[in-house]
Amino acid sequence: MCVFRTDESTHSLFSCKQPIAHLRETEKNRNTPKNNNNATISTFVPMAGIYIHIPFCKKACHYCNFHFSTSSNNIPAMLQAICTEALLRKDYINEKVSTIYFGGGTPSLLKIADLRLQIEKLRELFALEDNAEITLEANPDDITAEKLAEWKMAGINRLSIGIQSFFEEDLQWMNRAHSAEQALQSILLAQEAGFDNITIDLIYGTPTLTDERWVHNIQTAISLKIPHLSCYALTVEPKTVLYKMIEQHKMPNIDSEKQSRHFEILMQLAGAAGFEHYEISNFAKPGRRSRHNSSYWQGKQYLGLGPSAHSYNGNSRQWNISNNALYLKSIEQNTIPFEIEYLTATQQLNEYIMTSLRTMEGLSLYHVRQTWGAKNKEQIEKDARKFLDAGTLELKNDHLVLTPKGKFFADGIAAALFTA
Ligand code: SF4
Repeated sequence: MCVFRTDESTHSLFSCKQPIAHLRETEKNRNTPKNNNNATISTFVPMAGIYIHIPFCKKACHYCNFHFSTSSNNIPAMLQAICTEALLRKDYINEKVSTIYFGGGTPSLLKIADLRLQIEKLRELFALEDNAEITLEANPDDITAEKLAEWKMAGINRLSIGIQSFFEEDLQWMNRAHSAEQALQSILLAQEAGFDNITIDLIYGTPTLTDERWVHNIQTAISLKIPHLSCYALTVEPKTVLYKMIEQHKMPNIDSEKQSRHFEILMQLAGAAGFEHYEISNFAKPGRRSRHNSSYWQGKQYLGLGPSAHSYNGNSRQWNISNNALYLKSIEQNTIPFEIEYLTATQQLNEYIMTSLRTMEGLSLYHVRQTWGAKNKEQIEKDARKFLDAGTLELKNDHLVLTPKGKFFADGIAAALFTA
């Protein structure tokens, strides 16, 4: 539903429902991934996830650069094509599937019969764990008591609700399809329907969001007993309405000081309310972490279905074309339209540095030594010294972990530890 990232070296907060390949050496689609001599090390960990990208939205939020269409004409054809892709790729993962994630786009737009069919197809083609986590991203304006009951019956056991803010002015500024009242009501309705595994998305650092409002948004989530929060700093992505408005001086640029302030407020309030800050943008009550997103950060394999979806099998990443019409045309011919990159050992290590540092557990020096060798471990230790001295990193049980101060510089520190 939403990706926000800032890449300034000083203050960087990004998160994604699906990871973004950092080091691109792409090859055009060969359809059958081949072995690559450079890909010498696999960080494969068993237990897989499946991501399904539903590329349709009612309207375009001003900040969003995700792949979606606001025309609903092709929804039936797209769902059929995603089922075909699932069939074509049923051998991509050879482990039990522990999570399914319907993201987008706006999967809550789907008719219940269509969603049920998608889940049934996945159950038929893949070995699903009995207690698999099945998440549906939902926008507040789609949430009704009737739909919630149907989602539950269909097997959805986790909801990710795109709240963004509980204030009307913020929502209008973002061009969201829902109102502040719908934001609140959608959560209450979901809880009444028996959904206890709920996460909400909130955005901070927007021009209309004052510090007081940001406090109110977090406190509202806490008082509603939401067990998981994904909180993202607003970023300006090319080709978005927001980008154009800033470029034309119709809107002020991002206020990075405000974003830092909001991040600080967030860490304080969420920490005091008993949330674990388990990834830079993610906060969970004990036992309520996102199993699906955690698997991205732990280097597990996942299969992404639908236009723009990414997949990872331990040694390579691939991503489907971000174009609905071309995706449909290609799948009609039983060809999956993707690009692929094979990861060298160095790329895998650098991805591990980037993702592990953003997590609460941090970077395991033992794991680095076991997987990439003593020389790499020593180099990382040497490069980490100045951050340890500056108090932005700490060493805990042989893990390098960001301190609260270091969390403001996560990506910059990770980049400084990259190996060549
Ligand atoms: S609902 Fe808005 S933020 Fe979410 S994918 Fe659609 S346009 Fe993007």
